[in-house]
Amino acid sequence: MSIFAKKDLYIQKRRSKRKGARFFVFLLILALVIVGVVLGKGKVAECFKGFKKDEFSFMFTPPQGWNAYDNISEINKKFAVGLQYPLIADATNKAIEDDAKKIVDELKKEIKQFKTGSGEDRTVYTANFNVIPAKGGYVSVVYTINRVAPLRDLNDVQYRTRIYNTSTGEAVKSEDIFNENFAVAVSHNIKEFFVNNPQYASETYTPLFTDNTKAKAENFKNFSFGENSILFYFGAGEIFPSDMGAVVASVPISEVFADMKLNITGYTPPKYNANSPMVALTFDDGPYAPSTNRILDALESVGGRATFFVLGDRVGAEKSTITRGDQLGCEYGNHTWNHANLSKLSASAVKQEIDSTNDAVKAITGKDIALLRAPYAEIGDAAGVVGKPFIGWSIDTEDWMKKDPQAIVSAVTEQVKDGDIVLMHDLYPTTAEAAETIIRKLTGKGFQLVTVSELMAAKGRELIPGKVHYHAR
Ligand code: ZN
Repeated sequence: MSIFAKKDLYIQKRRSKRKGARFFVFLLILALVIVGVVLGKGKVAECFKGFKKDEFSFMFTPPQGWNAYDNISEINKKFAVGLQYPLIADATNKAIEDDAKKIVDELKKEIKQFKTGSGEDRTVYTANFNVIPAKGGYVSVVYTINRVAPLRDLNDVQYRTRIYNTSTGEAVKSEDIFNENFAVAVSHNIKEFFVNNPQYASETYTPLFTDNTKAKAENFKNFSFGENSILFYFGAGEIFPSDMGAVVASVPISEVFADMKLNITGYTPPKYNANSPMVALTFDDGPYAPSTNRILDALESVGGRATFFVLGDRVGAEKSTITRGDQLGCEYGNHTWNHANLSKLSASAVKQEIDSTNDAVKAITGKDIALLRAPYAEIGDAAGVVGKPFIGWSIDTEDWMKKDPQAIVSAVTEQVKDGDIVLMHDLYPTTAEAAETIIRKLTGKGFQLVTVSELMAAKGRELIPGKVHYHAR
């Protein structure tokens, strides 16, 4: 929030450091006075005889919600060029102003390459800005440039974008944000974006489009950051014929994230690859530190996670175990307060069992529990009152009965498939021992060990309150 707090904003002021600007302001005031005297009211547009009234309105109307800005402009008989730029924070304004000058110089240079008339035939370039805040003190500034040049039959829109780090005040270059491979991912995604857009699909086979969306950084130099996407800007004529106008393509951050050196978007990549095999290990009836911690150790060593369906009456004595599992990204499920048979309880007693357990865990993790597992797999009428999905299993290790690590390991490794949910109990040392091997073996076979919620999300399975979900195969 900091950089956009009111106290940090500049009050808009006309800084007249530049001679041209000072002269312009002088002319403007003079004209206003004359017009004011002659007409009795100030009509700003009168002083730009030969321009349409709204062509320079950008100078006097700041973008909505933004009242700190400055302008650079040059107006003469042959052309007028003007750019309005934002004032964002003390540290950054110098860099923004330097960039603004460079852009105006570029535009002037471009204008001077072509024939331009006077009066109504004058070339007029005007640039407005938009500021898009990103995360970590970064902002994107997008300039939309309207080019009007009657003698060139030109009337279009172009873009320039810049990224700033408002804490250091520096302009951030594309190569500071992306590694050299990013253009490959961007190129692919830009093509996909337009191929899937009926308005543009038929124009994605032209040399213009193909050449200018090739995997080269220079093709993607105008971009801004949103929370989950990067917007790429293409002026009129850049990738589509001029008469199709300027276009903006949205690319999901997830598609480019691997090639980003700086995460300035707040995007958190999933801890799993949705396209690779995954299994959800689940442990009931704990926590029980001596066993649970061995399982957490094993999970931690491979970067895996599991789901623990805990009993509420054990939670208070196992605070550090609960905290540790939470920090490792494990999930907690609700297994009732004291292993109650829900099918034999009244609605209010069911609610009491579920709510008290939820509160005990939430007091430690700060999170509500999303999933239930009914003791004895007995649900009965509880289905209608719990308001949360039940989780069953597709592999039962029978660990509580077998108490034989090797048999427990085999029960999993001999039949496990992508999307399985495995049932175990973290009350027993034999289960902890088996889990250590299972975790190592499954990881070795390429399975990702994820929580039940992650498994369901990755496989696109909807979790329905009161229903039992057995796997995500
Ligand atoms: Zn149980």
